Amino acid sequence: MEKNKYLTGGCICGQVKYKITEKPLFTQACHCKDCKVITGSSYVINTSVLDNTLVVEGEVASTELKAGSGATCRAYFCTKCGTYIYTDYASAVGRLTVRTKTLDNSESFPPQVNIFIKDKDPWLNLTDDVICFEKMYDPKKIWPEESLKRYSEYLKSSSK
Ligand SMILES: [Zn+2]
Ligand SMILES: [Zn+2]
Repeated sequence: MEKNKYLTGGCICGQVKYKITEKPLFTQACHCKDCKVITGSSYVINTSVLDNTLVVEGEVASTELKAGSGATCRAYFCTKCGTYIYTDYASAVGRLTVRTKTLDNSESFPPQVNIFIKDKDPWLNLTDDVICFEKMYDPKKIWPEESLKRYSEYLKSSSK
């Protein structure tokens, strides 16, 4: 991403706007049962960013949820329209997980992997060229080298 060129996004009513000031780390689709309920659809697409690169304007409310793994996360919504903007997973230190489809140019961020394929809706067909996992995976083996490097350097520099 060029310097000073931010990614932008927001909720459906326009009250919440955000920018992402640095290239996101990774984008993935999750087909688990929790994500189906939360989205009211077949899967969610999430984009992981360093937590100091998401700048939110407007009023958000949050609630604590239990992820499928048993770990907790905090979900952030627009107080007016309820659009679910991002998640802070306790397990994802130094990162925030933005709902990819709230990005203005979300088509630029297709899922790099699909997870919890074991719960995928049977009528949904994915093409052969997408990487799928029954459940979770090890980011160290899957994420691009550049993202892993940026993430570990950030953790070191911010002593998180
Ligand atoms: Zn809104
Ligand atoms: Zn899920």
